[in-house]
Amino acid sequence: MSRKMLIDGEGNQTTEEQSHYDFDLFVIGAGSGGVRAARFSASYGAKVGICELPFHPISSEVIGGVGGTCVIRGCVPKKILVYGATFGGDLEDARNFGWDLNEKIEFNWKKLVHKKTEEISRLNGIYKRMLANAGVKLFEGEGKIVGSNHIEVTQLDGTKLSYSAKHILIATGSRAQRPPIPGQELGITSDEALSLEEFPKRAIVLGAGYIAVEFASIWRGMGATVDLFFRKELPLRGFDDEMRNVVARNLEARGINLHPKTNFSKLIKTDDGIKFITEHGEEFVADVVLFATGRAPNSKRLNLSAVGVETDEIGAIRVDEYSRTSVPSIWAIGDVTNRINLTPVALMEGTCFAKTVFGGQPSKPDYSHVPCAVFSIPPLSVVGLSEEHAIEQVNGELLIFTSTFNPMKNTISG
Ligand code: FAD
Repeated sequence: MSRKMLIDGEGNQTTEEQSHYDFDLFVIGAGSGGVRAARFSASYGAKVGICELPFHPISSEVIGGVGGTCVIRGCVPKKILVYGATFGGDLEDARNFGWDLNEKIEFNWKKLVHKKTEEISRLNGIYKRMLANAGVKLFEGEGKIVGSNHIEVTQLDGTKLSYSAKHILIATGSRAQRPPIPGQELGITSDEALSLEEFPKRAIVLGAGYIAVEFASIWRGMGATVDLFFRKELPLRGFDDEMRNVVARNLEARGINLHPKTNFSKLIKTDDGIKFITEHGEEFVADVVLFATGRAPNSKRLNLSAVGVETDEIGAIRVDEYSRTSVPSIWAIGDVTNRINLTPVALMEGTCFAKTVFGGQPSKPDYSHVPCAVFSIPPLSVVGLSEEHAIEQVNGELLIFTSTFNPMKNTISG
């Protein structure tokens, strides 16, 4: 594919026509992918505008914040809570390594959540400054596409701003979903789980992905009773089966109650807490019920079908290998395209977009060997093919080497 075709996708516009646009690029969504694409495009000399919803730790269709999911209600706050949760075990271990911890050690959930909120607010400020330093113009409000080169931003007070841009980039990410079961409003998503006012002494986690496993580990690490329910035999679908087995054993060893092959039926509010009833009629009561059952692309309110941008059955925007949508002037990156939904991948897609469109170097994101970590306690990380995928790819014999290590630390116990 030639460089000219990628840059001048709209056809044969003259320089005079091009200068009629307010921006060379307008980005909707200032999360991981959007901020990266905006900054890098500006560094290639593009005039860039970006819009983002107002800041709050808990998102909605009209609430977000510069920095996006990873910074405000994803990777960063989650890791702060994971680190918080690991100290309990470490302090206990410390006694076996000569430390006399005489005073009673207490954990203060409110303090940790307060510190977490301070940190994400600080990062929100840093991301705004990064955009300003790169010369990117930031608008606070909800972006919508009103034509193949036109965007409308609805500000907090309801006033609408209209701009034209040679290229539009959709980087609106995704949002947690609740399953359609009776009483679903009694449960929470990961957004609320990162900002709970009270520590949940009894927690139920529904789901088998990395977010479910991580929250189960966080709350258990802080002393809660945790029950983890999922539909399959093992948690972490898509990961190597051997690793999934190890994780399941580790979670159980840490005291998390696993309930495999369990479907959810309904939630009921009781005086004692939230009652969770399984498909088979078993009942459990907890202070919080977390739905970690999946996320959906933020594409519904963008007016995509009216301008001809195609989406798939779950609303993910369809793109080609260069992240271009079915409308040549409109591009999409990150979770809203539902390729690999991780921050470094959104960053890679943003970098490739900027290089392709403004840097004169057509670049396709490379999805092979994306490393991935699960911040369970203890954690897990993988890179490359799982055994199951490797078997699918070879016709001949597959040699498998397995080795287990016992950290020396675990050999000294109290
Ligand atoms: P986002 O970062 O979500 O940014 C999209 C932005 O668009 C948001 O700020 C949103 O407010 C804004 N927006 C939406 N609609 C509009 C609109 N109409 N107008 C204006 N703005 C709009 N990934 C990892 O790699 N490692 C991890 O450890 C990890 N942990 C995670 C933990 C949790 C609990 C969650 C939920 C996610 C985690 N992720 C992790 C995934 C990671 O956060 C996402 O893959 C990443 O943020 C995607 O970046 P993005 O740019 O596509 O979207």
